[in-house]
Amino acid sequence: MTSRASVSAGNLLIRGGYVLTMDSAGDLPGADVLVRDGVIQQIGRNLDVPDAEVIDASGKIVAPGLVDTHWHMWNTLLRGMSDGRPGRLGYFATCVGIGRHFLPGDTYAGTRLAAAEAVDAGITTVHDWAHNIRGLDWAEAGLRALGESGLRARFSYGYQTGHANDQLMALDDLAVIKAGWPSYHADNRIHLGMAWRGTGGSNPAMRVAPELYRAEIAAARAHGLPVSVHACGPAGAAGQIRTYADEGLLGPDLQLVHLNNASPEEIALAAEAGTPVSVSPWTELQIGYGQPVTGELLAAGLSVGLSVDTTMLSGNADLFAVVKVTQACANGQARHEFALTARDVLRLATIEGARSLGLDAVTGSLAVGKRADVIVVSLDSPSLGVLTDPARLLVTATTPRDVELVLVDGRVLKRDGKLTIVDAKEITSAARAALAGVLSRAAA
Ligand SMILES: [Zn+2]
Repeated sequence: MTSRASVSAGNLLIRGGYVLTMDSAGDLPGADVLVRDGVIQQIGRNLDVPDAEVIDASGKIVAPGLVDTHWHMWNTLLRGMSDGRPGRLGYFATCVGIGRHFLPGDTYAGTRLAAAEAVDAGITTVHDWAHNIRGLDWAEAGLRALGESGLRARFSYGYQTGHANDQLMALDDLAVIKAGWPSYHADNRIHLGMAWRGTGGSNPAMRVAPELYRAEIAAARAHGLPVSVHACGPAGAAGQIRTYADEGLLGPDLQLVHLNNASPEEIALAAEAGTPVSVSPWTELQIGYGQPVTGELLAAGLSVGLSVDTTMLSGNADLFAVVKVTQACANGQARHEFALTARDVLRLATIEGARSLGLDAVTGSLAVGKRADVIVVSLDSPSLGVLTDPARLLVTATTPRDVELVLVDGRVLKRDGKLTIVDAKEITSAARAALAGVLSRAAA
């Protein structure tokens, strides 16, 4: 290995791995990936780059970092706290009941914990769906945590848990964030979006009046921001997707989340409008929305990404496990072993996820000119051990502990299995302290 003193900062040569480009170049066994100034500069065999630091990846899998497309990162502080037993509160009521006691520092602590988990799990892009913004300071706290994490991100500015459905979102604060965006984008790694309530879903008590939801999405679009909305309610004439289609609100800048209960007609409407979708199988199954409908969405030609959603329900942010259950559900529903192949489902967690967020020119695959968002997976654990079909190994056998190296924008965020730019111990102890504060205020 070249000594660090003799190389130019930021030049890395990932040497001799099994490179899964997820791009038109296909798989390149025994290839090198050269990263210079945050960009993938060359991919090929036996590259000769004397001024680069060499990272030996022989016998390992080199792949694009995983892309999450919808995650309420703030509530990672409440991991595991949605007790689904009868008589208990369940996810939504817990989220509202405890979320209202969050101070900005708690949002910071929760988002940092989520971001550290993301890096550890080989996720290099997140979509932080921030729906507990109780004022400007909460938005800034989330953005600070994302900026410090080194991750690539969309930060979707939202409402707050328990937001009165007869009141607009804080659009003035959104305008302030937008105007001050150069202070928040962290070298263009973060882009701004809006987390939108839409019509408020199927529960009549949660319905948002048309003049409010129209004003909110109009404000986002006036700022040129992408929008995301949950759409898990019932299908049909009164359903959300039908309403958005009738009002001309669907489009490539509006991400729909879940869609488990959409009718074939609604799926076709979304596809016709070029509207992307995020699927989060673990949480959809846990909360009882029903089976994910990934196969139907793909058959209709929709752009599909996969997501963590919330670790209150899923427990952890293991996107490899999300990929695995997505494939298993799709094949089980189709009663066909090859309905959704390992390679196709892996595309959803990489290049297709990036495309659904409008980031496919930047990340999601390993290609010359793209930003260097790269993971190296070791095969040394007993649950791996052999190199067979690398795509299938990533989908069915890999866990976060196998992710040895993580780069975002060419910067090393995990190395030799350990987080590098953040202190995991400090983050977890700060999270425990923040949660204790939240719970004591909630109990008072
Ligand atoms: Zn969600």
